[in-house]
Amino acid sequence: MTVHEFVKKIFFIEILQGLALTFKHLINPSVTRQYPTEKRESFPGARGLHALVRDSESGKERCVGCGLCAAMCPSQCIHIYTSEDENHKKIVDRYEIEVLRCVYCALCVEACPYAALVLTDHYEYAGYTRDEFYYTKEMLLENWDKYMAGDKGMNYIKNFWRPRSSDFPAPASPGGEERKVS
Ligand code: SF4
Ligand code: SF4
Repeated sequence: MTVHEFVKKIFFIEILQGLALTFKHLINPSVTRQYPTEKRESFPGARGLHALVRDSESGKERCVGCGLCAAMCPSQCIHIYTSEDENHKKIVDRYEIEVLRCVYCALCVEACPYAALVLTDHYEYAGYTRDEFYYTKEMLLENWDKYMAGDKGMNYIKNFWRPRSSDFPAPASPGGEERKVS
């Protein structure tokens, strides 16, 4: 045993350090929030309940039913059912998310080429049955109206919908100069 270790043992240095830390926390104000009476402000980009973007012109979903979000989803909780109209245009008959299986990774948002799906900042949802958390297309569109109305939704897409082409600068040409992209 070294002298340093011996001194630490004799004078209970580690116990005193532990007690000092405890007393420090007794004096400092607590950071625990008394939810639900005290709530944290939600912040932009928070990953809460899903919403399907409602196109402002047509009033319908922006989703075209390509299925990329469902293919990317690691929880496989997105289900899309499509059909064709008489002009061979794809129609999204059903778009459903099993919210209880979601891990809020936002890969579906990133995968969507049309910015048609977002995660809202709404996090206070609870229920008594699993069925309540099976969100249909209509429910997801309602979520857009409720939680992303006005500029909020468009600001979300502007700030958090990634990747964009601007995230990938043009690679340098073999000569060392940056290649021009028209
Ligand atoms: S956030 Fe992740 S887990 Fe949830 S639906 Fe999207 S891809 Fe699936
Ligand atoms: S990736 Fe976008 S457009 Fe394609 S099905 Fe999903 S939400 Fe719809």
